[in-house]
Amino acid sequence: MGKTLTNIDPDEIEKFNRISDHWWDLSGEMKSLHDINPLRMGYIKSRRTLDGLNILDVGCGGGILSEALAFAGAHVTGIDMALSPLRSARAHLNVSGLKIDYQQSTVENWAENNPNSYDVVTCMELIEHVPDPFSVVKSCARLIKPGGDIFFATINRTLKAFIYIIIGGEYILKILPRKTHQFDRFIKPSEMDRWSKQAGLIRMDFTGMHYNLITKKYRLGGDLSVNYLMHFKKTI
Ligand code: SAH
Repeated sequence: MGKTLTNIDPDEIEKFNRISDHWWDLSGEMKSLHDINPLRMGYIKSRRTLDGLNILDVGCGGGILSEALAFAGAHVTGIDMALSPLRSARAHLNVSGLKIDYQQSTVENWAENNPNSYDVVTCMELIEHVPDPFSVVKSCARLIKPGGDIFFATINRTLKAFIYIIIGGEYILKILPRKTHQFDRFIKPSEMDRWSKQAGLIRMDFTGMHYNLITKKYRLGGDLSVNYLMHFKKTI
């Protein structure tokens, strides 16, 4: 039981509870998540047709990704540990008219109760906020059906990421709330490779996501040095 209860940083949960009112303000504190959403959806849809699939969105926050997945025709469940983002997510269903099941749970507990249940698991911008990211990777792998797909997105632990995300994003351009990120929690692609292999996953693709400071636009590309997306499959 221990790990299922302890893989939470209470400061992180508190932080996300505080910003919850602004999840659906397209130019508010969560603007960068809205800006990258079409890119990450395009990435997922180019790798798996979503219509009719059962999808679990881990660390769903206010539901920005969950709603896009539901809009693409999937049956979506979203889990998060912070209650206020979940409230925003549920409230926004009245605006969008979509149906999504939002629940408060850790991924570890959800995996305990729902192993081998989902065609696709998405876990974006979460693993850099937890004390034990390997435990999240393992639990995501447990939740997926054999043959299913997992999509992660996180931030690399490089000097460039420190400059772009923390100095640039949080302090100079202020496109992210201050203290959104802790540098030592950023995750190297080699760590994701090791953990996913240990969790029985097959690496399908890693792709970088880049922000152009001048055009203020995001694009996908090969360089993994700041933000990056990952696709894995579970074979057994
Ligand atoms: N995945 C969403 C939101 C990312 S923000 C998106 O990309 O649009 C990170 C989310 O992770 C927040 O909503 C926060 O409450 C949640 N979170 C942080 N630690 C968590 C934990 N241990 N278990 C579940 N959710 C957590």
